[in-house]
Amino acid sequence: MSQKYDTIVIGAGMSGLAAAIRLAMFGKKVCILEKHFLTGGLNSYYKRGKRKFDVGLHAMTNFVPRGTRGRPLTKLLKQLRIPWDALELSEQKSSLIQFPGQSLMFTNNFEVLREEVATKFPLQIDNFNRFVTYIEEYNEVALDNKTFMAKDVAKKFITDSQLLEMIFCPLLIYGSAWENDMDFSQFVIMFKSIYLEGFCRPSGGVRTILNLLLEKYEKVGGELRFKSEVTKIIHSNGKISGVELKDGTILECDKVISSMGNPETMAVTTGERPEPKVGPLSFCESIACLDKKPKDFGFDHTIVFYNEKDIYDYKKPNTLFDHSSAVACFPNNFQHDDGDTEGVARVTYMANYALWKELERKVYLENKNDLFEKSIETIKRIAPGFDANVLFKDVFTPTTIERYTGHFEGTVYGSTDKIRDGRTHIDGLYICGTDQGFLGIVGAMLSGISMANLHGLME
Ligand SMILES: Cc1cc2nc3c(=O)[nH]c(=O)nc-3n(C[C@H](O)[C@H](O)[C@H](O)COP(=O)(O)OP(=O)(O)OC[C@H]3O[C@@H](n4cnc5c(N)ncnc54)[C@H](O)[C@@H]3O)c2cc1C
Repeated sequence: MSQKYDTIVIGAGMSGLAAAIRLAMFGKKVCILEKHFLTGGLNSYYKRGKRKFDVGLHAMTNFVPRGTRGRPLTKLLKQLRIPWDALELSEQKSSLIQFPGQSLMFTNNFEVLREEVATKFPLQIDNFNRFVTYIEEYNEVALDNKTFMAKDVAKKFITDSQLLEMIFCPLLIYGSAWENDMDFSQFVIMFKSIYLEGFCRPSGGVRTILNLLLEKYEKVGGELRFKSEVTKIIHSNGKISGVELKDGTILECDKVISSMGNPETMAVTTGERPEPKVGPLSFCESIACLDKKPKDFGFDHTIVFYNEKDIYDYKKPNTLFDHSSAVACFPNNFQHDDGDTEGVARVTYMANYALWKELERKVYLENKNDLFEKSIETIKRIAPGFDANVLFKDVFTPTTIERYTGHFEGTVYGSTDKIRDGRTHIDGLYICGTDQGFLGIVGAMLSGISMANLHGLME
């Protein structure tokens, strides 16, 4: 006989875990259904031999010092009752936006970026300062914000196109579901979380966060079932009644909060693959384990946003991947080196899912090798002193992302149709996570919390 839950949460990624903790904390009978045998979703982890890897983690955004009030990171820790110290955060040293003939450095102290703009774009500094004030005063998280494009707003302030492109570059690649632009609320979220707050890394990478979430969830009595893929969301007369799993099990519930993604949720609700749109953007990433740390070949930046063209062409490439721009992350260059003897460099390129998908196995592997070689060339352009040997390499592609997360076409930032209030056309079915509109590690957890509060606790 099946048991009835107050809420079933689909997915044990950041948003699903956070949503379920909130619900269980307030006595709701809640169950997370996760199709894999691991937590983390888009930001999980794996092991190759003795080496431990995070799937994606470059950095956590939204760094603020302990005790800072009312900021996303401290708000979410308070809601989940996790102490700030438990994350053992290490701040970035510095990051660089590197364009042809120009660069901007930023750190977790916003004045460094302001100073860089004043020095390198002296005619724009007043415009920049007015734009920053406008951003600071904007309420980006209001659930009824309309969607309008950020570049239209930014151009009213910033009149130098190179500066505009440089400011947008990190924000697009770390969080835009739209090509070459983004929704203004999302832009403000990203601007605040990356430039006004900053980058950090938990001591044990993503495992530290996931372990804390799992411990908390266990403590508040929530249930989690791995290897439980939801294949159908059951509803009648416009109201939710339960879910069906791949093995035929039916579980009843009053509400479902889904972190699968908006198109993916609608596909198991309607049995078709309908609108909303699947986002165009996916990525490839290479990971190189090195016999030297970056500081040993004279390189100190934590993250570099690299672009070889005058404009930043943030869009799905017509080739397997586009190596004319990249994000390169050097995890050893957070302030507290992890003590590991190896160096690590991660390079992310924009990629074309459909082209990777059609490759035969042998050609697929050859192209992964080619991508790895290109990523070493990119590292050499970013860090001209690079002289390390590669001890181990790994590459993942959009098809890897699709296989492990279930996101259609390996999309990372989800659909361009975001549902800010999480509501769907079915009463009792809600969306949380990337397609609710808050993404990244901190954003996804905040999304789970706010959807659980709004639909699971207040309604
Ligand atoms: C390569 C890469 C690098 C990244 N780097 C960073 C970074 O450095 N910093 C940062 O802040 N963010 C980063 N992100 C983004 C961040 O990982 C995501 O925004 C965030 O983890 C999204 O969480 P989520 O809960 O919304 O969704 P997901 O993580 O996608 O969680 C959804 C979960 O649902 C499960 N699921 C799907 N379908 C079903 C089904 N039918 N039944 C049951 N379960 C199902 C999936 O297995 C998954 O566990 C990165 C992402 C990628 C892919």
